[in-house]
Amino acid sequence: MAGEACSSSSTAIPEQFEDEEELLLYGGGSGWVEPRTWCEHLPSLTSDLSHIPTPDTSCFRCHHPAENWVCLFCKDVLCSRFINKHMLEHYEQKGHCLALSYSDLSVWCFTCDAYLDAQVIQQLRIAYETAYLLKFGEAPPVRTMECMLLEDTGAGSSS
Ligand SMILES: [Zn+2]
Ligand SMILES: [Zn+2]
Ligand SMILES: [Zn+2]
Repeated sequence: MAGEACSSSSTAIPEQFEDEEELLLYGGGSGWVEPRTWCEHLPSLTSDLSHIPTPDTSCFRCHHPAENWVCLFCKDVLCSRFINKHMLEHYEQKGHCLALSYSDLSVWCFTCDAYLDAQVIQQLRIAYETAYLLKFGEAPPVRTMECMLLEDTGAGSSS
């Protein structure tokens, strides 16, 4: 009778309410927001993003040692909103709205208040790949959509 299901990774929970609670818990900022593939501030990026400071660079202002952001306009390295908010301050003072996180290599636009998909946007991919290489010592893996589909179709059917 009591057959223990072999599937351990099925999540069929209606997530509408759960998600809202989680967002509140985590303070809204992150979560499962779909990153954008374009924002109007990208054309004003003119710096050479194949040369950026290493991910272990300290915050230029308070010398916080890690998990900082690099401004994609002037390549200043500044700490996150969870430390001393120096990247945010930099944005407010200079209007440099695009920054790459050295903790998870995501790109954030402060003006759009949105993440940008650094792996899809050609212009940002250079910075992403450079940062990845500096952080992990190897090139980033190619993102495949197929593996998600494969997982979904699993479960062998025996007659
Ligand atoms: Zn700082
Ligand atoms: Zn800047
Ligand atoms: Zn933007």
